Amino acid sequence: MQRGAIAEIDLAAIAGNFREIKKITNNKKVIAVVKADAYGHGSEAVAKRLVESGADFLSVAFCDEAKALRLAGIKAPIIVLFDPDPKDVLDYNLIPVVSDKKVALSLSTEAEKRRRVLSVHIKIDTGMGRLGIIQNTAEDVVSIASMKGLIIDGLMSHFSDADAGDLTFAKLQISRFKDLIKTLAEKNLNPPIYHMANSAAVISLSESYFNAVRPGLLLYGASPFELSDINFSSIISRFTQAMSIKTRLVALRKVPAGTPISYGRTFVTKRESLIGVMSIGYADGYCRLFSNNAEVLVRGGRIPVVGKVCMDLTMIDLTDIKHLATETDEVIIMGRQGDEFISANELAKRANTISYEILTSLGRFAQKRYLN
Ligand SMILES: *Cc1c(COP(=O)(O)O)cnc(C)c1O
Repeated sequence: MQRGAIAEIDLAAIAGNFREIKKITNNKKVIAVVKADAYGHGSEAVAKRLVESGADFLSVAFCDEAKALRLAGIKAPIIVLFDPDPKDVLDYNLIPVVSDKKVALSLSTEAEKRRRVLSVHIKIDTGMGRLGIIQNTAEDVVSIASMKGLIIDGLMSHFSDADAGDLTFAKLQISRFKDLIKTLAEKNLNPPIYHMANSAAVISLSESYFNAVRPGLLLYGASPFELSDINFSSIISRFTQAMSIKTRLVALRKVPAGTPISYGRTFVTKRESLIGVMSIGYADGYCRLFSNNAEVLVRGGRIPVVGKVCMDLTMIDLTDIKHLATETDEVIIMGRQGDEFISANELAKRANTISYEILTSLGRFAQKRYLN
């Protein structure tokens, strides 16, 4: 028997979310972010579906991820965000993001050596404080533009908090980016593509669209905003969460009142109880912060997690379930069953984290099944 956790990935939902982004942005080019194994959804299947749906570019964090997509037969342009390895980008026909002159020079040298012209995008740090040119920006871009073997096909920047209630800083970042674009245009440097908008900005900042957007999370149908942030709830409701996590019970036990459940005896039954033992634990990415602090769906009802989450197992209290549970019942950890829905954002809130971490953690170890 295998581990129980299954990630069901609805590729039609991802395609639908992609179309929704096209609609919202009025048909801007979409750079579909499929880093971290497509946020835990499986990058090969997801990337194929996104390319079929019309994604103009794919984007990953490291060259290895791009290499895997190339080996899977994906020919779409791939932007590599954080790994401008000259050998890999030329071997696999990738578009590196250039964050400084030194990197540009090493790419230029390798491109020249191979008598190739390499398309690159340049990253500007307008306030994220992570990567990108941060000082003498225009001068550096001009100097990179003069390097042999390189062609600047894009200029990009990244938001630090487009998901915040207060968008003042995000707007400052946009104005810095616009100023640079203007300065470069005066020097006759007009790269064809400018991109800045992540998922939050796609929803909250239309002035950040330029001519391409770069969403990840929204493609997977989770919200980049806090659960309580109702400002954008109607627009967010047009997206469909693509990942569901299901598991099964390894045991269903009737236990007497006063029975401690799991490590540390943090939950003790107050009455005779029906306890389900689920095949999922923190080794499956089901975080320990869900101990006594999450619900799952069984037979269409919300059922509480009781006691500490273990490495491979977690207990739930089925005593109050309306229709008697059996050992073969499906348990929904995240996703829909009947009228109930557990979102990645709900789990994120309970674990004091963001939906990104929930998706990548739960998606990573689960056996994947794709729905078309
Ligand atoms: C991850 C990432 C994105 C996508 O962000 P989302 O919030 O998932 O839309 C875009 N750009 C860069 C540079 C990233 O690292």
